[in-house]
Amino acid sequence: MRIDELSTLADQGAAAERRLKGLGVSPGIAIGLAHIAEGGDLPVRESHFPETEIDAERSRFAEAVAVSLRQLRKLKAKASGLPESAAEEIGYLLDAHLAMLSNSRLVRGVDQRIARTRINAERAVEIEIDEIAESFASMRDAYLAARIEDIRVVGKRLIRNLIKKPYVTYSGLGEGAVILADELSPADTALMDPQHVAGFATEFGGVQSHTAIVARALGLPAVLAVPGLLEHAAADDRVVIDGTEGTVIIGPCPQTIAEYQARRDAFAREWRHLARLRKLPAVTRDGVEITLEANLELPVELPQALANGAMGLGLVRSEFLYMNRDDLPSEDEQYAIFSALVRGMEGRPVTVRTFDLGGEKIARPLSEHIAEPANPALGLRAIRLSLQHRRLLDPQLGAMLRAACDGPLRILLPMISNAGEIRQVREALERVARRLKRRGVRLPQALPPLGVMIEVPGAALAADALAAEADFFAIGTNDLIQYTLAIDRSDEQVAYLYNPLHPAVLRLIQFAIEAASRRGMPISVCGEMAGEPRFAPLLLGLGLRNLSMNPRNIPRVKQRIRSLDMVAATRRARAIMDQSDTARIAALLDDFNTLALSH
Ligand code: PEP
Ligand code: MG
Repeated sequence: MRIDELSTLADQGAAAERRLKGLGVSPGIAIGLAHIAEGGDLPVRESHFPETEIDAERSRFAEAVAVSLRQLRKLKAKASGLPESAAEEIGYLLDAHLAMLSNSRLVRGVDQRIARTRINAERAVEIEIDEIAESFASMRDAYLAARIEDIRVVGKRLIRNLIKKPYVTYSGLGEGAVILADELSPADTALMDPQHVAGFATEFGGVQSHTAIVARALGLPAVLAVPGLLEHAAADDRVVIDGTEGTVIIGPCPQTIAEYQARRDAFAREWRHLARLRKLPAVTRDGVEITLEANLELPVELPQALANGAMGLGLVRSEFLYMNRDDLPSEDEQYAIFSALVRGMEGRPVTVRTFDLGGEKIARPLSEHIAEPANPALGLRAIRLSLQHRRLLDPQLGAMLRAACDGPLRILLPMISNAGEIRQVREALERVARRLKRRGVRLPQALPPLGVMIEVPGAALAADALAAEADFFAIGTNDLIQYTLAIDRSDEQVAYLYNPLHPAVLRLIQFAIEAASRRGMPISVCGEMAGEPRFAPLLLGLGLRNLSMNPRNIPRVKQRIRSLDMVAATRRARAIMDQSDTARIAALLDDFNTLALSH
């Protein structure tokens, strides 16, 4: 065959393959034959019954709840045989599902709806879940919105048990299958044995979903939210899943397969390299040690933080406590969670931030007492809200104080804009401590350190005044950039202006670092900037020694740190701070990175 014939064939092959884009949520490459998982929609009809049957329908629902709880417990026992980090992740997740079925808003709501409207239980579950989803969605918070998925999954389990439709498993699959589905629940995913399943793709689902978390824990390449996936694919089609790029290729030509096999091998090599890095210290070439910590949104992510070598939790976003509930979490509940985190970190520091709620993220029980803000980003939120509503702050401080007995816990305050706010919290902390002491509750010998987020430009400019009241600083670059440059961080239309290298942002960061270092006070960065290897030389060169980030970014940031020379980075940071042009700043930084990587 002539060369031009060969390339024509290759072109035809390339034309026949279908490339679809989605969200790459778990990195890696899978190549295998498609297994189409059964559709996720369950047929539910609506019916009403006479008053005399209310009790019978409520019992039918209670039975479905009991069966679901039994299934989840069984699943949990089964999951304990999975690889270590996956077992823990899934264990936490199934615990969350168990909690959603134990006297939760969902269960109470459905039960009351059946009694009130005499509607059949499966339809009552659907309506209740839609209402919960709506109230979450109205909070316009990506993190909380993603939690809706968990509630839907639990709802589907209830409906399945009400209509008595059994679950299917993947145990009969041949080696290296690729699962394609419209949607997969985390529990479905937990059943995937990496020995048999190479990866998966779905039409629905988000990056923050538990399905994504479980996929990462199992090391299964996964792409979610692929529009039209099942229209383009049939059972036993050859499929490539690229979980790094978020691509699914159906019917790949031989050339594409060869290309992706090479990428799969390269990924495996890099993964082995990063795995080795997890155990190595984050130390520069000239011997300066850097502390790399993890940001955590859900307790379920704790094993991931440990597996990636986190030296502490630099930011625990306690808003997760509002997941699926319409009452305020009690002190005891919060204590149980904070204490589990502190104990789980085995002596490494845990920094818990008080609720960063407000604006659209208003807690339901408080919403009646708070006027609709004209400008949520500048309104009654975060520490301002906590200080006005002690029902929020006091139980949280109590829980933190108690958990501080179980290991090193630090308290972090969001959106601080003046020193008075820190003083008020300190007074509240002392008052709560006295109250607990009177009740005979065990307390730590000294009150936990009280730190503030530097995420408002005024806080950075007045950092010296705040440093006089605070015990540590954590720079929140996400909000600092938003407020400094007047760019809504969630508005895509102005995303092109969101620039961490804007000289105004860098000067504010420098200001805060200088104020902290004059007092010898610890300071870290916990915004997204900390998790990007590109910014590491600049942040370190400016004097930072502690970075907190999404746990998955730790190995890559560590790798960059280990390639750096601190003396050179400091010199380069000084040169950068002399510049006023963003493009020039970016060029100086990128040149430095290229040079460091070439060593
Ligand atoms: C920040 O603003 O940088 C930060 C870490 O907090 P959040 O992203 O939760 O607002
Ligand atoms: Mg913030």
